[in-house]
Amino acid sequence: MSVLDSVGRVRNAPDLYLVVSSSGSEYLVDMAEGRCECPDDSHRPSVTCKHRRRVAFVIGERPIPEWANQDALDDQFGLHVEAEPTRAVPDGGVAQAIADNNSVTRSDSGPLAIESHDDPRTKRAKREAIDVSFLRKPGRYEVQSASDSVYEVDILEETCSCPDDASRCKHLRRVDIEIRAGLVPRPDGRLPEA
Ligand SMILES: [Zn+2]
Ligand SMILES: [Zn+2]
Repeated sequence: MSVLDSVGRVRNAPDLYLVVSSSGSEYLVDMAEGRCECPDDSHRPSVTCKHRRRVAFVIGERPIPEWANQDALDDQFGLHVEAEPTRAVPDGGVAQAIADNNSVTRSDSGPLAIESHDDPRTKRAKREAIDVSFLRKPGRYEVQSASDSVYEVDILEETCSCPDDASRCKHLRRVDIEIRAGLVPRPDGRLPEA
């Protein structure tokens, strides 16, 4: 199963996820309401269906087994959450679905390391395959997400052209993180001082 959070019906809905099984069935999971549209879930309300369990793993609401290899999981995670349904891979076991979890101490360092106090949007900003380029206009950056959407972030105005109505979307956060880390030029076009 693959869990998708930024395509089609769930593109702009933070609590909605699409779970695509290896047979190609696609179910909409609403984590806010605790619902899934699969027959299993609708007919047996007391049961948490496998799609909801899978999403819970992916978004970190369930603890990661201690044996899980954190680095390998992180590599796969970005791919899976942003992958297009047509490229969904067959179920490779639990490993591909496990994401970061606050209860696990991570050894990663660097600007995109996920800290335990990061909120969910900041985690996504760090974790997803987002490309940031400086646009040679004061404060403007072009952000390309793994789903190939391109947005323009104005770091001075704190605005982004994406439809996320959060005060600071993940694109804005990612640009901010990359500027602080010296990965892209500062808003004035110069590289940060070392
Ligand atoms: Zn289900
Ligand atoms: Zn945005």
